[in-house]
Amino acid sequence: MILLDGKALAAKVKDRVAREAAELPRKPGLAVILVGEDPASRIYVNGKRKDCAACGFYSEEYALPAAIGQGEVLSLVEELNGRPDIDGILIQLPLPGQLNEERLLSAISPEKDVDGFHAVNVGNLLLGRPGFRPCTPAGVMALLDEYGIDPAGKRAVVVGRSNIVGKPMALMLLERSATVTVCHSRTRDLAQICAQADILVTAAGRRGLITGEMVKPGAAVVDVSINRDEAGKLHGDCDFEAAAARAAYITPVPGGVGPMTRAMLMENTLLSAKRRQNLR
Ligand code: NAD
Repeated sequence: MILLDGKALAAKVKDRVAREAAELPRKPGLAVILVGEDPASRIYVNGKRKDCAACGFYSEEYALPAAIGQGEVLSLVEELNGRPDIDGILIQLPLPGQLNEERLLSAISPEKDVDGFHAVNVGNLLLGRPGFRPCTPAGVMALLDEYGIDPAGKRAVVVGRSNIVGKPMALMLLERSATVTVCHSRTRDLAQICAQADILVTAAGRRGLITGEMVKPGAAVVDVSINRDEAGKLHGDCDFEAAAARAAYITPVPGGVGPMTRAMLMENTLLSAKRRQNLR
């Protein structure tokens, strides 16, 4: 069994991104909007700030009060859309209930939508056109590529159908010619379907969902989920020991997909900066 080491690959990606960023006439700029005090969101935003610093990017953080109105966030997004020094705009999710997430994400210029959540970028992915790809599934594809796991012709099963992970993951695997099945909370015979997967990507957010018997011997298993136990320890969906005993490749949690998601945000911001400086 080979561990798919996302931490190591993410460090490599960020090194390359930093080298490429240093050669640009203007450094890439990322603006992150955080609304409220969600502790997990704060950790993620801090991580993004650190990554920007490590890659030599310019970054700005807007920490807005939880009770802020839709109009004020919209005005900020519009201001950032017009800023020549900002290449990427990211709204940290989840948002407090009074804010309309869909409208706010749609307000971000698709050219600066480095999270890849805007309908234009989702549509580009569906149509196989260039655009920003969502960071988590893009990170999974980069990991598969790094370890020479070619999805073409393979049977891939994605557990989860969210807009940010499951759906784009399925589309990216399809784009690379896998035969893709998407499972979700209403799927019957989950175990039987998973057991056929050459590539199993799980993003259900349910600790213990994927048992050893659900892993085809020799499969590549990518566990996207982050489930925190009572002691604060992180777990994926897989019963790791049992899954690792059957898989040929498996991601650890933590240290698998998480760091890749962060690295892909830097990659997307670099790409945006290059496009906006007419360098590609
Ligand atoms: P979500 O709650 O929006 O979606 C979960 C999906 O799993 C749903 O489509 C649901 O139908 C499916 N599901 C739930 N229970 C199931 C079951 N018993 N059987 C089959 N399918 C089931 O979550 P999300 O935002 O897509 O995130 C999924 C997980 O990935 C979470 O644990 C989240 O923390 C993690 N995550 C990790 C990263 C990363 O960078 N590693 C990024 C995003 C999300």
